[in-house]
Amino acid sequence: MPATSSRTADALTINKARTLANVAERARTLFADGYRAQQFESAAHLFFVFPPDTDKRPYIVDTLNAHCTCPFHPQHRTCKHRLAIEEELRDAARLDEQAEYLTFGQYLADEEVDDAERQAEPALPAYYTCTGQPVYAQA
Ligand SMILES: [Zn+2]
Repeated sequence: MPATSSRTADALTINKARTLANVAERARTLFADGYRAQQFESAAHLFFVFPPDTDKRPYIVDTLNAHCTCPFHPQHRTCKHRLAIEEELRDAARLDEQAEYLTFGQYLADEEVDDAERQAEPALPAYYTCTGQPVYAQA
């Protein structure tokens, strides 16, 4: 019956959504809960994720192939370990962007100081001849 199968599909979707929300919530507190992460020295996309219980073996998160070696991942195609690592990487990228922005701001400030020097720089050639000689536009 279409109505019944539709309800079943809705129930599955809701259960899946709940599971995913739960995973995302646990990912947010993963490191606060005592998990530790360590990037592979040989591969920037691979991370050990050590559980708080030191007797347990670490899982390996592969950000390039969106994979984790924990038992939860194959069934749900996601897990708190991978989400936590991906969030860390996004945070790191944001910090990098901010650092670059600050550097660029510093560059602009320096430019103002060096304004006189900058005007003394030679003008760019208008074009180059076929033998590579620069040709300057007439002032
Ligand atoms: Zn995992």
